[in-house]
Amino acid sequence: MRVLGIETSCDETGVAIFDDQQGLMAHAVYSQVDIHAAYGGVVPELASRDHIRKTLPLIRQVLDEAGLDKGSIDGVAYTAGPGLIGALLVGSAIGRSLAWGWKVPAIGVHHMEGHLLAPLLEEPSPQLPFVALLVSGGHTQLVDVTGIGRYRILGESLDDAAGEAFDKTAKLLELPYPGGPELAKLAEHGDPGRFRFPRPMTDRPGLDFSFSGLKTFALNSIKTALAESTDPDQARADIARAFEEAVVDTLVIKCRRALRETGRKRLILAGGVSANRRLRERMSTAIAAEGGEAFYPQPALCTDNGAMIAFAGCQRLRAGQHEPLVFKPRARWPMDHLEAVSSS
Ligand code: ATP
Ligand code: MG
Ligand code: FE
Repeated sequence: MRVLGIETSCDETGVAIFDDQQGLMAHAVYSQVDIHAAYGGVVPELASRDHIRKTLPLIRQVLDEAGLDKGSIDGVAYTAGPGLIGALLVGSAIGRSLAWGWKVPAIGVHHMEGHLLAPLLEEPSPQLPFVALLVSGGHTQLVDVTGIGRYRILGESLDDAAGEAFDKTAKLLELPYPGGPELAKLAEHGDPGRFRFPRPMTDRPGLDFSFSGLKTFALNSIKTALAESTDPDQARADIARAFEEAVVDTLVIKCRRALRETGRKRLILAGGVSANRRLRERMSTAIAAEGGEAFYPQPALCTDNGAMIAFAGCQRLRAGQHEPLVFKPRARWPMDHLEAVSSS
């Protein structure tokens, strides 16, 4: 089965074709970052309008790259939530309409299920069951995964998501939007010993997270550094490094705990923050020391993309799930409410 995937939940237009025999045949992502950079964050209405402009040309481009005709698509998968409602409406309307026109089934995919399944596009692909750490701009969740659609939330952030904490701290450090990757770059030049950030909620049992205090800590550290009137550029790098160390440490501690508590051996990471190099290195070492193994998507498939939507949609369409002739995007959509896909 060959599925066209369309992702428009936020500020990336992603389109891809996944074939369950041939794998990923083509994928393209158009990022709206230049549109939103001037505002320091995503402007929802501008995002919707740009998805309208970009989605169809990107679909044509991906079909061309794969050397395929639209007649060879067996199903269409589009992100139906969670995300910005206007942006979701664009991808859902286009996806559902194309499927109707092409007389193929359509499926609305959960964006976080898309992220969660992205590591399964890699070789070697992790065997089920596993624990998933989803770390993105809007979510930080530990999930016990026993099958596709069989998700039990073990813990999640009580306030800011890890990616959100990266972005907000980057803003305090006067880094350009989007801040996460910029902060990671700056952290490379930082001294890890100068500032010591807390590891929130690691000193008590449980698998929830809290990252909002780290940006306050960053703000206070900036003030301290300025008062000391030392080299401000070095101070910013030192703060970036200490912040990154704290987030990475906290995530590693909670993931080890989640594996111990569930008895699982495999951990997958997904979502934009899983592109972070230090997180990947630290996590792999820590999990290997416990006799487990960590899996990641390739960096380009950590952030939003159409490949994960095409892949997740393919699993569900193959199991016979599809949508009626309506589309129903949802800004909020708990992942543990999804229908299970039988593994046989
Ligand atoms: P969600 O998936 O929860 O709806 P989203 O789609 O906006 O949110 P993603 O596209 O998965 O999130 O990831 C974007 C986030 O990942 C941003 O917060 C960004 O700063 C962060 N990010 C991307 N690369 C890195 C990196 N190398 N280090 C740290 N953070 C990063
Ligand atoms: Mg984005
Ligand atoms: Fe995302």
